[in-house]
Amino acid sequence: MGSSKFNFSYYVTGTLILLGVLLGRFVCGFLCPFGWLQELLHRIPGKKLSTKRLKALTYIKYFVLLFAVVVLPALVANDLGMGDPFFCKYVCPQGVLEGAIPLAIANAGIRSALGQLFTWKLAVLIAVVLLSVLFYRPFCKWICPLGAFYALMNKVSLLGIRVDACKCVSCGKCSKVCQMDVDVVRAPNHAECIRCGKCIGACPVDAISYRYGLDVPAEKLPLTADKK
Ligand code: SF4
Ligand code: SF4
Ligand code: SF4
Repeated sequence: MGSSKFNFSYYVTGTLILLGVLLGRFVCGFLCPFGWLQELLHRIPGKKLSTKRLKALTYIKYFVLLFAVVVLPALVANDLGMGDPFFCKYVCPQGVLEGAIPLAIANAGIRSALGQLFTWKLAVLIAVVLLSVLFYRPFCKWICPLGAFYALMNKVSLLGIRVDACKCVSCGKCSKVCQMDVDVVRAPNHAECIRCGKCIGACPVDAISYRYGLDVPAEKLPLTADKK
């Protein structure tokens, strides 16, 4: 959004929408390396805390998406007429982990040029690492604007979760195993569902499955010969 040459990044947004429509937050569950890192950190033995009572915090990521990714880069321009990538520059810990730290280790010149911004981003990274040990995927749940974007696409994505109400015996095991705090039976395609499939494995009567394609309500499906 901050480029001086155009007002809207059609290719980037179009690619994200395409991935969102095809996969939804499956991207978070299986493709994103930072999600994987948080998974690994959460496996470190020790005290684990539930995020069920912190659901209100999941809305923060939508504000981050709106303001740090869209509004501020579009409105606040530097001397060259470009907007800063506010989220990448001031919030995202991935750049420090995968860029600044390895480069600083390898190059003394870069090391000596590191300043307050690096210190701040390092503090954010350390906070995310510590929180990830205690909570399941805190950055994904609360902060990540890419996760927010895919969360918005979850309702329309072709890949989804389906619950067969005829088989369900209301045991509640699916929601209990879901670390993204989804009420699986009521809202299987909730914005927070990362399509991890843990609920599928937990269901004792195989009532939950992946679906691919349009989610047509049962009453709108054409009648089969025996039903006719
Ligand atoms: S929410 Fe963000 S950090 Fe987490 S898995 Fe999705 S894209 Fe990656
Ligand atoms: S356990 Fe089921 S509902 Fe929860 S995130 Fe994984 S796939 Fe989605
Ligand atoms: S685990 Fe299966 S049977 Fe139990 S509430 Fe969930 S969908 Fe229903």
